[in-house]
Amino acid sequence: MQTIQNFINGEFVPPIAGQYIDNFNPATGTRSGKIPDSDIDDIEMAVRAATSAFPAWANMSLDLRHDILRAVADGILQNLDELAAAESADSGKTVTTARTVDIPRAAQNFKFFATALLHFASESHHAPGSLSYTLRQPLGVVGCISPWNLPLYLFTWKIAPALAAGNCVVGKPSEVTPLTAYLLGDICNTAGLPPGVLNIVHGLGPKTGEAIVRHPKIKAISFTGSTRAGSEIARIAAPVFKKLSLELGGKNPNLIFADCDYEKMLETTVRSSFNNQGQICLCGSRIYVEKSIYPRFKKDFLERVKNIKIGDPGDPANHLGAVVSKMHFEKVLGCIDLAKAEGGQILTGGAALKMPAPFDKGWYIAPTVIEGLSAECRTNQEEIFGPVVTIQAFDNDQEALELANSTPYGLSATVWTNNLQRSHYLAANLQAGIVWVNTWMLRDLRTPFGGVKNSGVGREGGWEALRFFTEAKNVTFG
Ligand code: NAD
Repeated sequence: MQTIQNFINGEFVPPIAGQYIDNFNPATGTRSGKIPDSDIDDIEMAVRAATSAFPAWANMSLDLRHDILRAVADGILQNLDELAAAESADSGKTVTTARTVDIPRAAQNFKFFATALLHFASESHHAPGSLSYTLRQPLGVVGCISPWNLPLYLFTWKIAPALAAGNCVVGKPSEVTPLTAYLLGDICNTAGLPPGVLNIVHGLGPKTGEAIVRHPKIKAISFTGSTRAGSEIARIAAPVFKKLSLELGGKNPNLIFADCDYEKMLETTVRSSFNNQGQICLCGSRIYVEKSIYPRFKKDFLERVKNIKIGDPGDPANHLGAVVSKMHFEKVLGCIDLAKAEGGQILTGGAALKMPAPFDKGWYIAPTVIEGLSAECRTNQEEIFGPVVTIQAFDNDQEALELANSTPYGLSATVWTNNLQRSHYLAANLQAGIVWVNTWMLRDLRTPFGGVKNSGVGREGGWEALRFFTEAKNVTFG
């Protein structure tokens, strides 16, 4: 049993009130340790540390700031095995996924923004008789709040640009997956990050998270999580005009046309449906297939899905592990029940999986494919965020587009076709922040990342992130 602590001013400290909450291992369904149940006093302490570290960090030479952030990236890779094991133990994802996706990407986030800060530039505007230039100054202390599905990957996706832009950070990882953020503290100290520049406080969303959002000295909130929590945060932050970046839920469509590269589409669609137990905000959970290839797709897709191996996340032979928590396990099973009640036909999966000991109390759900539901039903409108997809046939491009755009969400969409005109038309008309054509989750960190409609506001990635974490000030000379 491990008890973790907050990381404030470069030191590991217990929560001031001495309260803790339990942490669980989803693969075994057992208690694995305790994490701080931090409150407003812990946030106050973190904000004080960040405030005192701020001017020095912002005024450090770009070279040195780059070197320190690069050293954090190196430190993450040097601790790859430990971090991957911790990520798997906390989240139920396979160690292979954590080793090959989550942890390398966390290192890449630091590497990317360490180098970006050396090239970040601001604009100048000349006119006869005047010269204006834009200062892009760090905001001061900022808050970064992240979810459980890609824990260190998404935590660092916020922290790295915030620090690169010269801010000091109060960060909170999800209370469901706190371990890798805890381990990051030591890595930052070893890399030479000055005390107080990054503070990591653990605890519950409505308590610790909300204390971050409400704190008057925290100038901006970068949040990734549910649409529900995002709207709560917006409600609190809007009256005090806090800068907000909100990356929220999704209900992403996959549009599959008869002229696509079938094998590549099939292999990728299995991944885009079920990778990380379907718990990626970019997973395609509504699969729409052109009528002429629907029967073939249905047969081949089901065959592949039935071959997915699920179990002990530490066994490299397994493709999938457990879902993240008992609460989420019950939520996803409830969604499957709802789908049945709505008239959906379960083509495969549809139930929890019983594993041999010591995984017999773990939270495993069979990859589930559902057919026969209308676009308007709750199953096709609400985010499930688990290993559950629906499939449906369409007749033509217009119908495909209407189906794709028929939810309140707009994070990503995937299109499978070799028709150039159609791809450009759909890319322009799909209501989504990210459109993939003949691929999925291919990420270039320079590109803008974010959603439309209920999937959020603001963009992360590349210059967008550095602009978010700075304030533009215009200076004009006559
Ligand atoms: P969540 O909203 O429950 O929690 C996310 C984080 O916010 C956690 O750290 C939590 O403690 C904190 N939090 C919760 N309520 C809060 C409040 N009122 N004030 C401040 N902080 C609060 O989400 P989750 O269940 O951890 O993650 C799953 C959700 O995240 C899904 O909806 C998924 O689509 C979304 N997500 C979106 C993206 C994206 O880039 N758009 C990426 C990953 C996950």
